[in-house]
Amino acid sequence: MNVHDSEKIAGIFSESGYGLTDTVSDADVVVLNTCNIRHKAEHKVYTELGRLKLAKQNNPGLKIAVAGCIAQQQGASLFKRFPHVDFVLGPGNIDKLEEWINGRSKSTPSPPLCFAKRSSGETRGQVTALRDNLDYHTKTLPMKREGGVKAWVSIMYGCDNFCAYCVVPYTRGRERSRSGMDIYDEIKSLAHQGFKEVTLLGQNVNSYGKKLEETADFPDLLKLIHDIEGIERIRFITSHPKDMSEKLIYKMQDLPKLCEHMHLPVQSGSDKILKLMNRKYTYKQYKEKIDMLRQEIPGIALTSDIIVGFPGETEEDFKHTMDALSEMEFDGIYAFKYSKRPDTKALNLPGHVEEKVKSKRLSQVLDLQGTVTYKKNKVLEGQILEILVEGPSDSDQDKLTGRTRTNKIVNFCADSELTGKLIKIKVLDAKQHSLYGEIV
Ligand code: SAH
Ligand code: SF4
Repeated sequence: MNVHDSEKIAGIFSESGYGLTDTVSDADVVVLNTCNIRHKAEHKVYTELGRLKLAKQNNPGLKIAVAGCIAQQQGASLFKRFPHVDFVLGPGNIDKLEEWINGRSKSTPSPPLCFAKRSSGETRGQVTALRDNLDYHTKTLPMKREGGVKAWVSIMYGCDNFCAYCVVPYTRGRERSRSGMDIYDEIKSLAHQGFKEVTLLGQNVNSYGKKLEETADFPDLLKLIHDIEGIERIRFITSHPKDMSEKLIYKMQDLPKLCEHMHLPVQSGSDKILKLMNRKYTYKQYKEKIDMLRQEIPGIALTSDIIVGFPGETEEDFKHTMDALSEMEFDGIYAFKYSKRPDTKALNLPGHVEEKVKSKRLSQVLDLQGTVTYKKNKVLEGQILEILVEGPSDSDQDKLTGRTRTNKIVNFCADSELTGKLIKIKVLDAKQHSLYGEIV
């Protein structure tokens, strides 16, 4: 989601006549697009802001903006800690960048640090854009997308779920859906530009449309998009298990462009922890959805998120998570150590788990999942699969890379002219994180 926000930021700059530079020393403006989902990401931003102080000393004309969720949460207090910052804007105010860079900022000056003295003696306004931007979800911002083959498309912003560990509802605000026609028009334009695959983005795509005047839910939106000529594959992320409906599963059967992959974060295998997390499902209910998905959509790949060391997680709760991972055999997972986040309910729960216990549990989870993922990939050896070619592989520029419908990475040797094409590949060798194949 943040990467896609960066594409919007780059799009606004591009429309205003700016180009991307390779280094800070060549830049007139630096924008840090920040994430504070976990503490580690936040820490990195402060280190980077420290570095930018020197860059501004070398180039006093340099403008620095802090965007994203840290900006939203820290607000004007960032000016106090980092006086060299000029603009602080939340993730729902990206559109305000255009006014700012073109010198017509209507954003609120931020008391009490409205103006700061520069060392040269000039004054300059420091501004924030953090307020509820009520029509943000009605705007289609210019975007600078990379690659030309696959694109992210926001279908909704914010989240109403308030999982006890999660900062998103506080930084990205309440759930708002974009209108179906705006999404349709954006994807149609992507198809005209030659894009072949779209991934629809939202914190909880299954509740798409809830507050819209038009009566369309997520499966209806999928149907609408499916008719767009030129788009060959459709993906979406993320689905909250409590809202993942049977109607969606049947749509996935009916609509051939919908890829056989679902990311369905379970977070924990312990009902006690799931309740404390405010996830609103039990492990059994979750497992029933997984079983149904596997039964109705043969070959579907399922991936998930896991948090270890949530407050109150005992060895027994953790064992439930390990058992769940063995039982469900996901194709892959993202696993995280619980990280304390400001404003969230979990902060005040009893039983915070020691860091070294969290680290141990995380490595146990990753080891187990590594074995499962490798085993699942091995089964694919010898199979012929359709992939969408994305371009040269990051790890080896002599090879091309693409993804299967189930979202597995396949590297292979071929001419780069195949980029953007759907081709058949025979899997020759399966590794844990990727497959190697040859064109059939
Ligand atoms: N909206 C998505 C997830 C968004 S955040 C959903 O509900 O599935 C992506 C993942 O980050 C979450 O699924 C969770 O596993 C992890 N995460 C969020 N907050 C966290 C925290 N405080 N500590 C550790 N992991 C966290
Ligand atoms: Fe965070 Fe939960 Fe919303 Fe996902 S559903 S963004 S984890 S509050």
